[in-house]
Amino acid sequence: MKYISTRGQAPKQSFLEILLGGLASDGGLYLPETYPRFSGEDLMAMRGMDYRQLAFAILSRLTDDIPAADLQVLIDKTYTRATYSHGRVDSDFSHITPVRRLEAGLYLLELSNGPTLAFKDMAMQLLGNLFEYALERAGQDINILGATSGDTGSAAEYAMRGKHNVRVFMLSPEQGMTPFQQAQMYSLQDANIFNIAVRGVFDDCQDIVKAASNDLAFKQKYRLGAVNSINWARVAAQVIYYFKAYFAVTRDNGEKVSFSVPSGNFGNVCAGHIARMMGLPIHQLIVATNENDVLDEFFRTGVYRPRRSVETLHTSSPSMDISKASNFERFIFDLTGRNGERVAELWRAVDQGGSFDLRHGGLFDQVSAFGLVSGKSTHADRLATIRACWERYATLIDTHTADGLKVGLEHRVPGIPLVCLETALPAKFEDSIVEALGRRPERPAGLEDLEALPRRVEVMDADVQAIKAYIARHAND
Ligand SMILES: *Cc1c(COP(=O)(O)O)cnc(C)c1O
Repeated sequence: MKYISTRGQAPKQSFLEILLGGLASDGGLYLPETYPRFSGEDLMAMRGMDYRQLAFAILSRLTDDIPAADLQVLIDKTYTRATYSHGRVDSDFSHITPVRRLEAGLYLLELSNGPTLAFKDMAMQLLGNLFEYALERAGQDINILGATSGDTGSAAEYAMRGKHNVRVFMLSPEQGMTPFQQAQMYSLQDANIFNIAVRGVFDDCQDIVKAASNDLAFKQKYRLGAVNSINWARVAAQVIYYFKAYFAVTRDNGEKVSFSVPSGNFGNVCAGHIARMMGLPIHQLIVATNENDVLDEFFRTGVYRPRRSVETLHTSSPSMDISKASNFERFIFDLTGRNGERVAELWRAVDQGGSFDLRHGGLFDQVSAFGLVSGKSTHADRLATIRACWERYATLIDTHTADGLKVGLEHRVPGIPLVCLETALPAKFEDSIVEALGRRPERPAGLEDLEALPRRVEVMDADVQAIKAYIARHAND
């Protein structure tokens, strides 16, 4: 299995070759040269598999440079019950990513039982083990530099903590994350995790990461890497739970299922698209956005018009507050019939701050053939949905999951099971739960006093030189 760039100019590479890199050399994103396809017989065999077996069945088709025995060890080490039972352990805890039935034909796919209570743990934990493995094989180490407004940074830190060949330098805005999210990151005491709270906003953090990474001499000298959402291994790992959920809610592979996905960078729903391309019988993939509706606009109108970051609204589903959807290019590549030249042309406009319009020439008409539809949810919608879900199903959901449920129900079709992806636990977004229900969500056991734990964080000005000097001082620790 080789990987090709969405812009058609970069050399083909293997899974491990693209693991530690970011963008392809032509500015594109990597995708499998062809999607491996599961036959009806394969699907029948997969129906009885547990999470690890499914992970192996899927990932072994997407890699050819990790020996099977090694891949099995990495999967077994990652997907343990202990790692993914943080949120709750109820009688229905059928191993990893259980499906909760809300009513006939309506389900919640629990993806947030990992260490940081958000779905990003599903892929990030595997990425941590893959990084360690690949670096060990190459005799290298890496310094991961990132900026976070919440979920990504903590998922990365919990995935990389204690890894001897990885250090993480994570910039976060001193104010702007929830107290829970701050405590989750800053209480980590591992020597290889460096929290830098920046006196500024998220965009300042991101600008500093860009400036440091664009300094190629600095980047090389200190072996800087990233774990952003365009990382192919993260997308690949997210394909697994679409299969797991499909088998959980159907009896027969002739049935179709729809998935509703709270979306920001289009990574999660992109994995659903890939699951479908690999043969999973998906009816619709429902892209749910919040007030930052770049994606909804595209799927309604055919116009993709990324916003400038100053136009991004701060909402009560903050992990979906994005101005451009970095994984969207992967879908457009498939939509154009894998025409790298066309994609490069479309993104020439995007990269210069422009937009593109696929209404002319028939491309937009093809979107429905891929089963993608969309909708949008507002603050009032998510509060109402949290309330309704609690009253009707005695199930407490977070704000992002509420966006997904609200939009999912708008597209629900009788006779086709609808699976809504739960992307975080309500404990991470307490204030919105209080606003919706007048009460605090329960904390998972062991996290009750998170905010009282000692903190390991360096507070710094939004000063590129000072932060580069800090990294230089600690990059070899
Ligand atoms: C990251 C995140 C999302 C958005 O996922 P994408 O893959 O970026 O589309 C949605 N909800 C939560 C809670 C998240 O952390």
